[in-house]
Amino acid sequence: MTSKVLIINFEEIYLKGKNQKIFIKQLIRNLKRKLKPYRDFLSFDKAHGGSYFIEIIKEIPEEILDEIIDKVRKTPGITGFYVADTAGITMQEIQEKAVEHVGRHIEEFESFAVVSKRINKGVNFSSMDIGRQVGSIINETYGKKVDLSSPDFKLYIKVRGKYTIIYSKIIKGIGGLPVGTSGKAIAMLSGGIDSPVSTFMAMNRGLHITAAHFHSVPKTSPQSIEKVKQLVKKLTDYQGEIKLILISVLEIQEAIAKNTDSRLRLILLRRIMLKIGEELAKQERAKALVTGDSLGQVASQTLENMKATEEATNMLVLRPLVALDKKYIIEKAREIGTFDISILPHDDACSMFTPKSPETKAQLHYVEENCAKINVEELVKKALEQADTQIIS
Ligand code: ATP
Ligand code: MG
Repeated sequence: MTSKVLIINFEEIYLKGKNQKIFIKQLIRNLKRKLKPYRDFLSFDKAHGGSYFIEIIKEIPEEILDEIIDKVRKTPGITGFYVADTAGITMQEIQEKAVEHVGRHIEEFESFAVVSKRINKGVNFSSMDIGRQVGSIINETYGKKVDLSSPDFKLYIKVRGKYTIIYSKIIKGIGGLPVGTSGKAIAMLSGGIDSPVSTFMAMNRGLHITAAHFHSVPKTSPQSIEKVKQLVKKLTDYQGEIKLILISVLEIQEAIAKNTDSRLRLILLRRIMLKIGEELAKQERAKALVTGDSLGQVASQTLENMKATEEATNMLVLRPLVALDKKYIIEKAREIGTFDISILPHDDACSMFTPKSPETKAQLHYVEENCAKINVEELVKKALEQADTQIIS
């Protein structure tokens, strides 16, 4: 018999009407893939209504269980889950396990209630009996009082077919939608604070992400690429495996610097990044590009400049951070674990290339005029030929 079981809830997906089945199927597929390294310990049950069971089928070291819990917690689509103890289906076994379970939470409450359910009708006691008998032994053992109307602590007990599950504390998940249920997108990932957050937010809304990073090695240090790999590695906590495409824009920057109005450098480079992104999207069968733009945050992120940049592509450009304050973005970066990596010093492809007085209100026709001075198609083609694709897991 199993010693513990993870009980996963999916409220938002659960509300999705007729798509529900597809969403749950994808979520389970994602979970199985993420938990593959631990499969010897686990047995995946079928979904029951709004929840899904993963049984721990053999003795498991505490730190491995913690790793599994962390992976589940970071899986998009999961609003919350319980780590339940399991017991046999006799009253004595249920009482013993309930006392042991409550013992781990004893500091957290004064009053409690037992919420019981008997799914297995073959046992010789009712769900009321469970509530009464477990309630009284907890009261005797720990001196805590029963309060059915507004308890500090709820102990859930469900007698199922072969075993009983006993649980209390919900572990909050990150919610959102299962990766893959919204299709695919290319996330433009720099080494900064913003784009790892926008990439995360896209994933958390059900997009399966391929990351694209543009660099100017050897003009910039190879460490900048290492840093991006670390960021992508962190983001695999959420999506699982991620494809990272590294693209040199050195030659493109040289062509821009040599032939165009220096005030437009950044916009022109961004336009070409989007064009390359569009080609990658075709390769990957992705339907959108994702960037970390936030309105007004830096010179390149005015409405005029966003428009002049976006005109370079027909693709849908998603900007999950567009209306968020930097403070919030930083908080989110901390929460998802990318902040400490993002603030490591690095020189990025753009900063060394930034003109002294960049244009903040670019006129589209003037941008296009400058763009025509370089052979964009040829440069894009060459950059793509030299792309380096890596799978990070
Ligand atoms: P970030 O913190 O993500 O670097 P930022 O505030 O520095 O963003 P910009 O440098 O203007 O803003 O970049 C805007 C967006 O363009 C980034 O969020 C990212 O999506 C994309 N981008 C910029 N530089 C690169 C790069 N070298 N590789 C890939 N994408 C990039
Ligand atoms: Mg940046």
